[in-house]
Amino acid sequence: QNFGQTDLNEVVTRTMRLIQNDVPKQIELAVQLDLTAPRVDGDAEQLKQVLINLVQNAVQAIGTPGGRITVGTVKQDRFGDFRGGTVNEFVEVHVSDTGPGIPLDQQQHIFVPFFTTKEKGTGLGLAICQRIVKNHGGSIAVHSKPGEGCTFVIRLPALPAEV
Ligand code: ADP
Ligand code: MG
Repeated sequence: QNFGQTDLNEVVTRTMRLIQNDVPKQIELAVQLDLTAPRVDGDAEQLKQVLINLVQNAVQAIGTPGGRITVGTVKQDRFGDFRGGTVNEFVEVHVSDTGPGIPLDQQQHIFVPFFTTKEKGTGLGLAICQRIVKNHGGSIAVHSKPGEGCTFVIRLPALPAEV
């Protein structure tokens, strides 16, 4: 475990460069970075693993018909203590795909170790993602309307901006 000031835009860029050759031609890989996103306290190698797992699932979900995977970052301001006026910032990393999506009754199970709907799945990818993200003080959630693909959202607490 090797935590330190980490630029998630850099992690996304490096990870996408690393895996783009493994993504089949019929799948478009798009990146949308929020350049104002603050740094987080994180382990870049572990966060890279999270992205690899999510993109791999997206590739498998989209399959041969093809489609699009979008990976992006967004800075989020969360007004914590209203009276004290403190502002807590988060950085979100989104991984969206145009695959079949996840049925509502399965969405609560997908992060459980060994839950898989794949013939040769391990069911460990998302469990590992969740463990890593929680270990960073963050959260991971899925949003999916079956038939319209799905979006995984990782939220990590931002480091205070340097003055
Ligand atoms: P595995 O990929 O080995 O099945 P994961 O933990 O990575 O294990 O995923 C668990 C399950 O969540 C998958 O089997 C699949 O049913 C569902 N899932 C994960 N990502 C997606 C996605 N992008 N689109 C549709 N279903 C997904
Ligand atoms: Mg997987």
